[in-house]
Amino acid sequence: MVNSKNYDSYSNLWFTEEEGHNLKLDYRIKNIIFDDYSSFQHIVVADSYDFGKMLILDDAIQTTTADGFIYNEMISHVPICSHPNPEKVLIIGGGDCGAVREIAKYPSIKKIDMVEIDEMVVMVSKEYLKEIAGDKIDKRINFIFADGVNYAKECKEQYDIIIVDSSDPVGPAVELFSQNFYENISKILKNDGIFACQSESPVFYSEIMKKIFKTLQDVYNDVKLYTATVPTYPGGLWSFAAASKTNIITDSKKLIGNTRYINESILKSCFCLPEFVVKMLK
Ligand code: SAM
Repeated sequence: MVNSKNYDSYSNLWFTEEEGHNLKLDYRIKNIIFDDYSSFQHIVVADSYDFGKMLILDDAIQTTTADGFIYNEMISHVPICSHPNPEKVLIIGGGDCGAVREIAKYPSIKKIDMVEIDEMVVMVSKEYLKEIAGDKIDKRINFIFADGVNYAKECKEQYDIIIVDSSDPVGPAVELFSQNFYENISKILKNDGIFACQSESPVFYSEIMKKIFKTLQDVYNDVKLYTATVPTYPGGLWSFAAASKTNIITDSKKLIGNTRYINESILKSCFCLPEFVVKMLK
């Protein structure tokens, strides 16, 4: 039975997220906490009734305090637990700082370079989204405010883990989905390194997901898709891709940290895909 609520006492402010031309999702908002334009995008932090605080960039919800941990744990712990001894990590994007916070839980990690194009996203997340970004200062984290595409092209360093935690392929993130970018990333990933990225919804953005998978297959020896359910994202079911020049061997015993979504069972099973996704990737 659904409890009846007195909706008269709720605000009449709504945020509408449009997914393509045929789908709109409406969220009732308590109030707007932050609203401004950076040189790159429109940044809003809104407090919603059902999803808690939301980070919205150019009208697209990036993360929420209700379920951002699911995405951030999956994009971080899976590659870390698939590497024999990860020490040096590169994150491209990830301005909400949720992924870097997860990576920093591993004492073996000596250095995390985080290349985010928009400094204002990091500042806003640290100020208004502490539930996601955390409030600790970690000297291993080196923020580089630059375009990840140029960084990958010009970088002379080599990394054990590279994570692309990007927004959807619009605006400054378009190039983060290109073959050229993946090839440049491959040059700065060590031979036993692991690459991971978000690869969109298998239901609503299956063409993008398939393109990411096939492009990675052209560059890497082993590519695996894995999924998690993130209620904030359209359809809930979300995909991630992991890639290696050798083989992806995930050791669930390596998982550490006070996690809320991922555990050893999820690490063991997350690469098991629904049949319709398996067929899409053939
Ligand atoms: N979890 C989120 C999602 O899937 O919607 C994405 C997290 S994070 C907020 C995405 C970040 O990528 C944004 O802060 C954005 O500024 C950054 N970004 C977009 N294009 C970029 C680029 N070319 N180089 C570096 N960062 C970029």
